[in-house]
Formats: sequence, structure tokens, C-alpha cells
Amino acid sequence: MIQSDFKNISQFDPHTLMEHCELCPRKCGAERNAGKTGVCGVSSDIYVARAALHFWEEPCISGTKGSGAVFFSGCTLKCVFCQNYELSHGENGKRVSIDRLSEIFLELEEKGANNINLVTPDHYIPEIREAMILARTRGLKIPNVINCSGYETKELLGMLDGLADIYLDDFKYMDAEKAKKYSGAGDYPERAKESLAEMVRQCPKPVFNDDGIMQKGVIVRHLLMPGMVRNGKAVVDYVYDTYGDDVYLSLMHQFTPFERLEKYPEINRKVTHREYERLINHAMEKGITNAFIQDGSVAKESFIPDWNGEGV
Ligand code: SF4
Repeated sequence: MIQSDFKNISQFDPHTLMEHCELCPRKCGAERNAGKTGVCGVSSDIYVARAALHFWEEPCISGTKGSGAVFFSGCTLKCVFCQNYELSHGENGKRVSIDRLSEIFLELEEKGANNINLVTPDHYIPEIREAMILARTRGLKIPNVINCSGYETKELLGMLDGLADIYLDDFKYMDAEKAKKYSGAGDYPERAKESLAEMVRQCPKPVFNDDGIMQKGVIVRHLLMPGMVRNGKAVVDYVYDTYGDDVYLSLMHQFTPFERLEKYPEINRKVTHREYERLINHAMEKGITNAFIQDGSVAKESFIPDWNGEGV
């Protein structure tokens, strides 16, 4: 059983925090309670596009039973290469209450999910926190996975202290210029380092059950981008040199070119086999063993789920 020694602290009241929202590093001050939206594109209402078993995460997250993925609308980053563009840019999906969100968690557990996988949760963390506390009091036992962008403040993640079980952290850039150009966030490397430190503080050592499913810990993902092996190596170096085997690395190659990338011809292609091999070889030469790598060719569109409101 997963125990979470959370406390219900009023300073994390969602309504108060969204009067003048400064949750994420954008600190744009949007009056989300009044229906206004900031960079993340969503007001204080929670929008979920899909809640279903998902089989395409790392093996220790999906296993054979699947991960209970809840896909939230909106995003604090504006990545030009986003594969979930329709979802990340605005209020898509169905509006749900905190109470309904906690029920969704319990329904996913009932369906056999290994965990509750909260996908792009950053801008809803105060509400998710409330829903998770409610679900725990209603009997939810499986771990939660905070599947986030790496672009968070220490204070935002601090709201999950004692409540988060696993962080699935997307560490995109060590190169600030590239972060600015492709995600509109030149401060990304600094924020990503700061947020990873907080994740490891909360979940310092990986723990697995007898089936090899992670129960506690931090996994850092890096999606290799075309022509950016140096950036990928810098991410690997930073994570491993700072945290060693305490953090798992997941090195991914499924970067997918599409029409909107015509303005960025230098990245409008698939990652080559050679580029990915160079990154993997670099990780191996460093002696990294706690890592996931991908086989086969790049992911196809069919790997992107339908945003049809299933399970919401
Ligand atoms: S969560 Fe959204 S509204 Fe709040 S500071 Fe970040 S981008 Fe702005």
C-alpha cells in the first residue's frame, strides 16, 4: 500500500491561488477564477481530454496492466514541436470538478491501472492535490505519477510534498537559446534543474514492487531533437553527474516532424539512427545503467491517443 503523509494546508487553496495566478515560472498573474487565461491557456476550470489505461510509458510505469493516464488540457510551455498540440493549446476536453477528478482516479484503479498518471498537470496542481487527497481518503491505493514538463518552480512542486509518489520529469533543454526558440522559455534550464532537485528531495530513491512496477522515485525523460545531440548529452551529464543512480533516465527518439514545423526547417525531420546512437553511446560510456532506451523506428501518429473524452 502506498502511504502519503500529506497535510491539508489552506495555503494551497486552489481558489485563492488562482485569483492572481503565479503558479508556474511564467508568473503571468492571470485572474483564472474570473475566467481569464494566462500562458497555459486555461482558466481555473479543470479540463480533461481522456482518462484511460495507457500502454506507451516506460515498462516500469505501464507494465502489462497499463498506466491510468489522465490527460489535462493546456500547458505552461509552448513547444513548437508539441505532439499533443490540440490538447496543450487551450481548453479542450471535458470540464470536471475536483470531486469528479477524484472519482476518475478511483475508476482507473478499478480498471486495473498500475498507477494514476497525471499528464501535463503543472497548471492544475492545487486542484489535483485536492482531488488526490480526496481519492486517498476514499481508498485509492496505487501510486500517482506526476508526468510534468520540468518547467516548474520549487514552490509549485512543494505543494505535492508527501503526496507525490513518482515524478516522470521531461527534461528538454540544457541549451537556453534552444529553449527560448522552440518552447518560448529561455529560463528553462535553470527551472528544470531547480524542479528536479525538488523532485529528488521528495522522492530520493527508486522503489519497485515485485512485478518491477515503480512505486516511488524519479525518472527523467529526454526526447532527443534533430541536430541536438549536444543538448541531449548535456542533459544526460547533468542528471547523472548530479544524482547518479538515484534517478532513472529515459532517452527517447520519437521526435515527429509535421506541417507546423515548416518555420523551423532545421528540426523538421526525424532523429536519425546515428544521432540516437551517439546519445546512447555517450550514456553507456558514462557507465549509466539505470536507463530506458527505445528500440525500432520513430513513433507513428497512431501512438497519439484520441482526445475523445474517454473515461471523463
Ligand atoms: S499556471 Fe498558467 S496562468 Fe498561472 S502563471 Fe503559469 S501560465 Fe500563468
